[in-house]
Amino acid sequence: MSKGLLISVSGPSGAGKDTVLAKVKEKNPGFGTSVSVTTRAPRENEVEGQDYFFRSKEEFMKMFKEGEILEYDEFVGNLYGTPTIPLQEMSEAGTDVLLDLTIAGSMALKENFEQSVTIFLLPPSFQELENRLRGRGSESEENVEARLQMARQEVSSAPGFDYVVVNDDVEEASAKIQAIITAEKCRYIRNTDIEKDM
Ligand code: 5GP
Repeated sequence: MSKGLLISVSGPSGAGKDTVLAKVKEKNPGFGTSVSVTTRAPRENEVEGQDYFFRSKEEFMKMFKEGEILEYDEFVGNLYGTPTIPLQEMSEAGTDVLLDLTIAGSMALKENFEQSVTIFLLPPSFQELENRLRGRGSESEENVEARLQMARQEVSSAPGFDYVVVNDDVEEASAKIQAIITAEKCRYIRNTDIEKDM
């Protein structure tokens, strides 16, 4: 059985990753989700074990030292990491997994897994990005500024990714991601057992 794809979507905060990923997930209910560990405080509607595993910095670093966290990155003062075991188990079982990672996270995935597919999601413009971040209402002014500053740096990382998708329309962007996944599944390298069945 071929391994499940590890499809990682990165992009500036406010590029619309959550909405686009939710749409892709809706169309692919069989996809697995990697629930990350974070040292960030939970937002009002976030649920432990569903949105994130919320841990102290000490607990987080202990998990990393013990190999329970595959990769981690710092984002706006907090740590975010991918739990090792669930990701490996899902992929080995042939389950495709969608991940929402920072750029460094996607790059780490690409380095470690041949079944990774990295997608860079871009907002249509910086103005739109700023509108979206402020429109959320959940971030402080300082946090919005930090996320905007970060976004400008992040865009220069696009060449390291396998694909780039501009999110000016959620339906269209999710359809493009769907097309990428379909094409990746058809790659010869993921179907080397075809001759056995002939
Ligand atoms: P937020 O605080 O908005 O939930 O997430 C901030 C950023 O952390 C997002 O851009 C998301 O991609 C990233 N992130 C979430 N989980 C992980 C993870 O496990 N590893 C890495 N590298 N980044 C993550």
